[in-house]
Amino acid sequence: MTATRWLAEYAWLPDHAEPTADVLIETADGRISAVTPLAGGSGVDTGVEVLDDAVRLPGLTLPGLANAHSHAFHRALRGRTHGGRGDFWTWRDRMYAVAQRLDPDSYLALARAVYAEMALAGVTCVGEFHYVHHNPDGTPYAEANAMGEALVEAAAHAGIRITLLDTCYLTATVDGEPLAGPQRRFGDGDALRWAERIDAYRPDDDHVRVGAAIHSVRAVPAGQLATVAGWADRHAAPLHVHLSEQPAENDACRAVHGCTPARLLADRGALGPATTAVHATHLTSGDLTLLGDAGTGVCLCPTTERDLADGIGPARRMADVGLPLSLGSDSHAVIDLFEEARAVELDERLRTRRRGHFSAAELRDAVTVGGHAALGWRDAGRLAVGARADLVTVRLDSPRTAGVPPVGVWFAAGAADVTHVVVDGRTVVRDGRHLTVDVPAELTAAIEEVAS
Ligand SMILES: [Zn+2]
Repeated sequence: MTATRWLAEYAWLPDHAEPTADVLIETADGRISAVTPLAGGSGVDTGVEVLDDAVRLPGLTLPGLANAHSHAFHRALRGRTHGGRGDFWTWRDRMYAVAQRLDPDSYLALARAVYAEMALAGVTCVGEFHYVHHNPDGTPYAEANAMGEALVEAAAHAGIRITLLDTCYLTATVDGEPLAGPQRRFGDGDALRWAERIDAYRPDDDHVRVGAAIHSVRAVPAGQLATVAGWADRHAAPLHVHLSEQPAENDACRAVHGCTPARLLADRGALGPATTAVHATHLTSGDLTLLGDAGTGVCLCPTTERDLADGIGPARRMADVGLPLSLGSDSHAVIDLFEEARAVELDERLRTRRRGHFSAAELRDAVTVGGHAALGWRDAGRLAVGARADLVTVRLDSPRTAGVPPVGVWFAAGAADVTHVVVDGRTVVRDGRHLTVDVPAELTAAIEEVAS
């Protein structure tokens, strides 16, 4: 891989409250090799020579954005679930109907288009919370990890990194009802067989990591939580879990186990610094303390929580007790991490009727370095020497961003304002176009295959 020089009109450097003008970023072999603020000049009178060969990046260049929570196939439901009333549970029935139609080929085509849509939005790494493992009747594919492999291949086609969060999903309810109907293809029987299956999958591509997930306390019996947590621990892998997305989950957990889901996870060894709780919308004060003491992170998914009428998580209180925050587009009602980032602040305003809860740098960290860390990529998400060469450039001359100061990007820009995306030193998006995937055409075709 050759070395490249990039000249950013503005770049947001680590530990800076605001972006810096005129920054030369040099990359080699997929890493950032030098970051040089040119102190107010683009090379003409700064003494830094040979800038003619630098790729100019007009606008604001950010580190790569991490989408820390995705179910790729949910993208097929966008715009199709608003016809009637209903709640999370009625939405879930529609989602299961799509899950029933997937096979490794159709899922590869759909996920490739979805991940390419993410790349266009500035996402350089996705955390795929993957549980559609088997044939619709629950029998394994000849290649037991065929569906996971399709997702990993899809990310490669789209040019982004992936952490495949292989999800243990064993039961339908907190009190252990067996999987039935469309849920059968999610299950491995028990946690040991889940572990055996993923142990057999050892991808050696450098764009993929494998992590573990507990679908929820509904889907993994208390006695098997430690098996999943132990697997993640032995492999030094991230462990993700849907936590307290719904009040009904809390009520069922209290009825069966006499405690909150967070307490159950803590008692079974599933909370720790490698754990990320997804949603964590309906936490008690005691739950917040438990997560804080364990060093557990939280992935907020505000546009999905909004879409599904789930509620608003206590984001500021989470940050105040030291929980590292990350963000995900989850059901992909929207794939726009600028929207997720501003929602963290704006939802807090709606709840408290006060403004000014999160700084722009805090929102940047959640969507960049925080998300990458939650997915096990601790060398990504910063414009710093040695970090992965991920660059995301946002134009500041669109109808949405014209006249906006660079620090105001979270409150003005959207995915459509991303012009240039570099992942591990490779250009994936140029001038707002994905270089290898016709995203609208492929989304249309792939969704026609699987949607009702
Ligand atoms: Zn989810």
